[in-house]
Amino acid sequence: MSVEAKHSDSERSDPERQDSERYDVAIIGLGPTGATLANLCGLHGLRTIVHERSTLPYSQPRACHIDAEVARVWQQCGFEAELHQLLTVSDGMEYVDRHGRRLFNFEGFVREPLLGWYEDYVFLQPEIESMLRRGLDRYSQVDVRLASNVTDPTALLDDAAFVVACDGGGGGTREQLGSGLVDLGYDEQWLVVDVLLRAEPVPPLPTIIQQVCDPTRLATFVPGHGAHRRWEFRLQGDEQLDVWELLAPWGITPGNGELVRAVPYRFHALVADRWRAGPDGRVLLAGDAAHMMPPFMGQGLCSGVRDAANLAWKLSEVVRGSSAAELLDSYESERRPHAETVVAMSVVAGRTLARLAADETDAPDPMQPDPRRWSRLPGLDLRGRFPIGHQLPQPDRLDERLPDDWVWVASDSSFSSPDGRTVVVAPTATYGERAVLVRPDRYIAATAN
Ligand SMILES: Cc1cc2nc3c(=O)[nH]c(=O)nc-3n(C[C@H](O)[C@H](O)[C@H](O)COP(=O)(O)OP(=O)(O)OC[C@H]3O[C@@H](n4cnc5c(N)ncnc54)[C@H](O)[C@@H]3O)c2cc1C
Repeated sequence: MSVEAKHSDSERSDPERQDSERYDVAIIGLGPTGATLANLCGLHGLRTIVHERSTLPYSQPRACHIDAEVARVWQQCGFEAELHQLLTVSDGMEYVDRHGRRLFNFEGFVREPLLGWYEDYVFLQPEIESMLRRGLDRYSQVDVRLASNVTDPTALLDDAAFVVACDGGGGGTREQLGSGLVDLGYDEQWLVVDVLLRAEPVPPLPTIIQQVCDPTRLATFVPGHGAHRRWEFRLQGDEQLDVWELLAPWGITPGNGELVRAVPYRFHALVADRWRAGPDGRVLLAGDAAHMMPPFMGQGLCSGVRDAANLAWKLSEVVRGSSAAELLDSYESERRPHAETVVAMSVVAGRTLARLAADETDAPDPMQPDPRRWSRLPGLDLRGRFPIGHQLPQPDRLDERLPDDWVWVASDSSFSSPDGRTVVVAPTATYGERAVLVRPDRYIAATAN
């Protein structure tokens, strides 16, 4: 194991704590959300138990794309060295017509790594899940119970102050707590095909993620990490398709590609209507248990990791008594609108495939500039601005100098902390503020001049 804890358990635990519960946090599910949360709970010194009904990480790739924020959360968990091996920078995404001609693209994916990481990476989910599981070995106060199927989530409260259900879309906790699902209106069956390229010559494949607007069959292609390549094909009803026939136009044959799997998935767009429930609001939902989305923006896992990062430090403050339990209400009020937006964007991204396929006459002449080209993703140019509620940029591996706690980041050493919190001096000239107050999850809470 090459990861190392930045702080020892004894530095993190509060020996004065006299809680009657044996654990501060019980986590249901050791998928990417639960495993990230468990690592962050370990980092914050929380006594944690994780129940996972399976024994090994789910062996087949599902997620294959993450963004900069997720890489940064895993950096905070101490995995930077592994990530450089396990992630490949992605060239971004384009929509193409049936002939492979670009309709528009999301430009600028490989741009300046503002958060300390590039905007998009591809990876193999089983490798990352193994990394996250191994990371838990660093924390003696984190217990992992494999082959432990939780049937009554509230019973875990007998032994733990809080329960976080990271039991995925099919886990039962959400339903048992009476939290409903808001349906954002996407329900389609797609065939997910994973291939490992063999050493034999393979015809050149795109190096960019492609959404293929082919009226005969909508498809997605992802040039994955290493030899991994992913195709997704929309299915009509329960039709059975020959995978090799689907791959033939891409030049993939049994001679140059090893079929890892071909599995139909039903993609949904659903968000839980209550993320905090149970007795005294002591049960929280995170990850796919709280939201499910079609994969066109590659944001399902990313959203779960964001949930974990938002929740971990709040649980820590409430458990330690430095914040009231009401702080946990801000978990849903901060995360749910964001998740709803991302789910809605994912639906739009999926529907755009069908719309452009149905509107083939609009396909631009590849020799002409594409009038529909999206020159920039709508978003914030953070250079020179430092808005409250957004993430702290990370120049020069700044996070390595920050505590996993609240911190002032100030542009000069004459700044004195107004509240006794640590001050870290960093080149904040680009931030446009003299000092910013940063939360443990690296979001900006306040600015000072
Ligand atoms: C085809 C496809 C492509 C995708 N592509 C991307 C992508 O590129 N990028 C991205 O960000 N996301 C993507 N996703 C979504 C991503 O895979 C999921 O959002 C992510 O795996 C959810 O993680 P999770 O930990 O919340 O849930 P899960 O991964 O479902 O983990 C839940 C865990 O809880 C355990 N569990 C369930 N019930 C119990 C119980 N009662 N007791 C104990 N344990 C229990 C399960 O065994 C499981 O290990 C994709 C999904 C699919 C299907």
